Amino acid sequence: MYDVIIIGAGPAGISAGIYAKRANLNVLILYHGISNLEKATMIENYYGFENGISGEDLYNAGINQAKNLGIEVKNEEVLNIEKINENFEITTTENKYEGSTCVLATGNKKLKPNIKGVDEFDGKGISYCAICDGFFYRKKNVVVIGNGKYAVSEAEDLKNIVNSITILTNGLELLTETTFEVNNKKIKEIKGDTRVRQIEFEDGTNLEIDGIFVALGEAGGSDFAKKLGVLTQNDNIIVDKNMKTNIDGLYSCGNSTGGLLQVAKAVHEGAEAGLAIVSYLKNK
Ligand SMILES: Cc1cc2nc3c(=O)[nH]c(=O)nc-3n(C[C@H](O)[C@H](O)[C@H](O)COP(=O)(O)OP(=O)(O)OC[C@H]3O[C@@H](n4cnc5c(N)ncnc54)[C@H](O)[C@@H]3O)c2cc1C
Repeated sequence: MYDVIIIGAGPAGISAGIYAKRANLNVLILYHGISNLEKATMIENYYGFENGISGEDLYNAGINQAKNLGIEVKNEEVLNIEKINENFEITTTENKYEGSTCVLATGNKKLKPNIKGVDEFDGKGISYCAICDGFFYRKKNVVVIGNGKYAVSEAEDLKNIVNSITILTNGLELLTETTFEVNNKKIKEIKGDTRVRQIEFEDGTNLEIDGIFVALGEAGGSDFAKKLGVLTQNDNIIVDKNMKTNIDGLYSCGNSTGGLLQVAKAVHEGAEAGLAIVSYLKNK
């Protein structure tokens, strides 16, 4: 049982962890997959680095700093977050963890497949959240686009609702095992009329479908948020000035809250979240 479980080891998550740990809280930070920071070749506008620093070096330094302060930092992909009574149960690819509070510091990632028709049918048969929208596809035939554990976990959420599920890897290798039907063909186009009806593959074959669930890479902050009933706007998590969401004990910071997408803002919001959690737990 942790006082706080932070999803994300970028500047927002690490900063939240540091402030919480310095107040003696029991902190776990989980991270998996590429962060925005790692993609930055050179950061020249962040305080204190006279010659700039590569995003990758800054990212790794943050993780090492947290570890040196005694924070548990684990490289595990988070698949699901559930609020059970007062606490948060976090399911990763390897374990389940429980925390009194939770911080979503997962960056701003909504991975869209680069397929013709994806924008046209967004919300018209294309969904990014199985728990949120699965109900609309009762006894229908759906596909999940993705090739990792997150895709399989989305399929699991759909299996008792829909008629059939096929995982479409869009030409990639499936990175995990599954009992669901898998189709590895490369997708050419998503077709339909007022809503999605068909997927055309590059080899000229077609698949008639009623719905598509996109689950590329890892689940992002807004995916977790939607499942938990957290308010979002344009996929940004809505927080108050203490970085608290509309759910008690759940906080968010950094790119996942939108606004200025910069390291300085992520570090600041992480600090606010860490301190807010300290006083939240003290008052509890
Ligand atoms: C090319 C590029 C150049 C940039 N240049 C600059 C610059 O010059 N100056 C500047 O200030 N900013 C720059 N930025 C922006 C900056 O990188 C971001 O604002 C900052 O990294 C946001 O921090 P964050 O902690 O919110 O998210 P991120 O750094 O994106 O970290 C997100 C974390 O969440 C983890 N995560 C996500 N999903 C899961 C999951 N399901 N399970 C477990 N872990 C998960 C990731 O592994 C990662 O640790 C640049 C960004 C890019 C892409």
